Amino acid sequence: MLSFDLRALEARAAVVDGALAPSDPIWDAADPRPLEPLRVTGRLSSAGAGHFYFRGRVEGVAAGECRRCLTDVTTAVELDTHLVFVAADAEGADEESDAYAFDPEAGELDLRPALREEWLLHAPSFPLCRDDCRGLCPTCGADRNLAADAGGCACRPALDPRWAALRGATTD
Ligand SMILES: [Zn+2]
Ligand SMILES: [Zn+2]
Repeated sequence: MLSFDLRALEARAAVVDGALAPSDPIWDAADPRPLEPLRVTGRLSSAGAGHFYFRGRVEGVAAGECRRCLTDVTTAVELDTHLVFVAADAEGADEESDAYAFDPEAGELDLRPALREEWLLHAPSFPLCRDDCRGLCPTCGADRNLAADAGGCACRPALDPRWAALRGATTD
């Protein structure tokens, strides 16, 4: 559960232990969604008039393609998160650019829009399958991480232009 009654919150901090599913309607069609439900744990408390504060952890798994070799990659994403929520009608709400605005008329504070944004900010857009991924061969397109006899690249290394020049010089 990721929505909290505002009156109850004002009286007492809430323990947050919920999940945001990849199928949740909060996601936009174009969003890179988590592979599994995001696990959200922490504490949500009142922080003065019209303000609430969430401190906790967001954990999920991002799916993508390695930016060099295009194989599927999953990346564990773990965030220690501090979020400030401010009622849209609170004094000075416009100036609090790091805070998430919420509608006090709704009676509830829904953490999902903020969690979605945090995910979009922190999930890797261009992951690597490993730090030293050698990528695809620009000549033949094969995966250079594989041995030549396992479907990898069998291109001969290009001749270094400096050697070519030297060779030209010696045959003259
Ligand atoms: Zn790769
Ligand atoms: Zn090649």
